Amino acid sequence: MSNNDHHINGPSALLRRQECPGSARMEAGLLEPPGDNEDRDRGVLIHAIVAGGEGELPDDDARYIADAWHEAVARMTEAIGVECRVHREVRLELYDDYGELLTFGTSDLILEPVDGSPGAVLDLKTGRGEYPDLAQDDPQLGAYGLMAADHFGWPSVTVQRVQPLLGQYPDYTWEDIGDLREWITGIIEGTRTPELWLATGSHCTYCRARPICPQVRAEAAEVAAVTPADIIDPYQLRDWYERAKVAAPLCEQIAKMAKEAAATEGGLPGYKLRKSRGRMYCADPAAMWARMEAAGITLDAFQSALTVSVSAARKLWEQANAEAMEGVTKKALDAEWEAMITDGGESAPCRRGAATFSVVADRGA
Ligand code: SF4
Repeated sequence: MSNNDHHINGPSALLRRQECPGSARMEAGLLEPPGDNEDRDRGVLIHAIVAGGEGELPDDDARYIADAWHEAVARMTEAIGVECRVHREVRLELYDDYGELLTFGTSDLILEPVDGSPGAVLDLKTGRGEYPDLAQDDPQLGAYGLMAADHFGWPSVTVQRVQPLLGQYPDYTWEDIGDLREWITGIIEGTRTPELWLATGSHCTYCRARPICPQVRAEAAEVAAVTPADIIDPYQLRDWYERAKVAAPLCEQIAKMAKEAAATEGGLPGYKLRKSRGRMYCADPAAMWARMEAAGITLDAFQSALTVSVSAARKLWEQANAEAMEGVTKKALDAEWEAMITDGGESAPCRRGAATFSVVADRGA
């Protein structure tokens, strides 16, 4: 598995650096947030075993991943058409023209043709995470390819992502290492501009700075400032939904922190917190807020988590358009809703769990 923990611009961070150059400065010095590392540990175990380490694959999925990985390596070797040395878990480095170290990372597997011709770099993904569809758009693959090409002196290089659980095996051959170098070094240099350029998007999901990011917070507050009651126009709603997606990770985390805070020391004195089909009702918001503040949650972030509800927005949409919807089947309504809240059906719908901020305050006080 790629171990990039020790370089702020490691290959796995480069897509985020490309989309949000300021994220490097924002993340510098921050530790991985505490949380459930089960998936990561599982990924590390699978990587270690497919690399020849000891241990047992934990389940059928893991066995499927391992088989698919070995098949992909065999297919790539055949495509190269020359006997290859196989290098596993290779630490690679990238330097600029002045010898300054720009980044480093550990590549899962490199195929080095014995006749000295250009080889290939393969990267295994054991989960279902989203990456660029095309291998040539993925700077993580590009960085590994570039570093391998420098390491072995290849003028070109082939890169491939192997993601068996999604059935995705995109590959690409960079015929000109110069183009690849320009792209990858450009991303890294972009993180060094004096201005702090921040841009939110799906790349925020794994950003360590998310809980403290002013851009996310500002956008979350902006979403919260529009209550679902204000939204009756489908186009407004879609715009709001898009922005809610950005706010979702922050609100999700705040909701989790709120639950944890409420659960400690026998609950919150003077009021009750109850959960009903994912919604939380708070009988004493002032006491609740005092507890939240003590837990390090800011007021604007807390309010963001309180006011956004996708399901409430849908109800309002149906109410506002009740006449036009009369006699329309639920299936058709569902389809219309989905089409409206996605980009013409081209992008994936919002993740329900993440986008439904179902904490409701000021009830029953
Ligand atoms: S949370 Fe998003 S916007 Fe903020 S620094 Fe990270 S990647 Fe950039």
